[in-house]
Amino acid sequence: MDMNKKIYDVMILGAGPAGLSAALYAARGGLSVLVIEKGVSGGQIAATDAVENYPGQMLEGETGESLSERMALQAEHFGAVRVQDVITEAVLDGEIKEFRGQKETYSGRFAVLAMGASPRPIGCKGEMQFKGSGISYCATCDGNFFTGLDVYVAGGGDAAVEEAVYLTRFARKVTIVHRRDQLRAVQSIQDLAFKNPKIDFLWDSVVEEAFGEGVLQGLIIRNVKTGEQTRISADPSEGMIGLFGFVGNIPNSSLVNGTVEMDERGYIRTDEDMRTSLKGVYAAGDIRVKTVRQVVTAAADGAIAAVSISADWQMDG
Ligand code: NAP
Repeated sequence: MDMNKKIYDVMILGAGPAGLSAALYAARGGLSVLVIEKGVSGGQIAATDAVENYPGQMLEGETGESLSERMALQAEHFGAVRVQDVITEAVLDGEIKEFRGQKETYSGRFAVLAMGASPRPIGCKGEMQFKGSGISYCATCDGNFFTGLDVYVAGGGDAAVEEAVYLTRFARKVTIVHRRDQLRAVQSIQDLAFKNPKIDFLWDSVVEEAFGEGVLQGLIIRNVKTGEQTRISADPSEGMIGLFGFVGNIPNSSLVNGTVEMDERGYIRTDEDMRTSLKGVYAAGDIRVKTVRQVVTAAADGAIAAVSISADWQMDG
């Protein structure tokens, strides 16, 4: 190891709301903090137009991007250092933790894993093209944009069915497109959907293709049993439909696979103070085993992780 190399008190991987809140709290608590992010800061909310449900967020014109940029500035204001790098290896079992990146190797006494999760893609043609202009993976974030329109939901699990019910607050009609003829969602959630007159189902079906000019205007749905394809187009007077993907999430935890304890889906297990199974390593935000994945809960996790680190630091003497 390079003896002149800086050893941070806390290294945080991921600059979404969890990582940035951990950085804010740790830096403000007097620890030296490094935040490493591979892309732009903000995580999943950076790609969200409007954040209406973060407490206190009522600023005119606020976007997910501007909110997260302020979070980053606030962490920096207290002395957190931010770098952009892609970490390819994590060495976390020693007293000093290391994140090895494409640009540099970073060292620290404590590590916070805040790499978040990504929605699993629906897998249809045109998906990337209409992401943000008709295709979304967050009903809480984007449902409002589809007020009075027809909305399609891909998936049949708890998230798909629950969010379909939520979307009926805005949409004229919500159609759940599920690849089997039975939902995976728990019965109580199914019951809500079945009794909702605004919800329709397309069974044994998948979204094959999304199309439109500029915005999402139509879908090609394929029946997986018969192979039959159906073309759905927006009402010309409205010119747009919505498609929400809830076919599961993928935690961004592959870097630490086999290093810290995870559930069978790859979410990292922590105690309520955000400690993972490995000493000196904490996890916060969407990457964690938890039930509510929102900006407010990610921020809370980050704060708790930082406070736990301070406490554990003092315990270690
Ligand atoms: P999930 O339970 O993994 O369900 C994913 C759904 O998408 C399944 O219906 C699956 O079909 C379908 N699917 C998967 N890959 C697909 C593909 N390539 N093409 C088309 N469809 C595909 O995911 P989730 O609903 O996001 O839930 C994730 C976890 O969070 C679950 O443990 C869930 O219980 C939990 N959750 C709980 C609540 C709640 O308790 N209120 C709310 C939301 C989420 P198959 O059914 O055929 O496999």
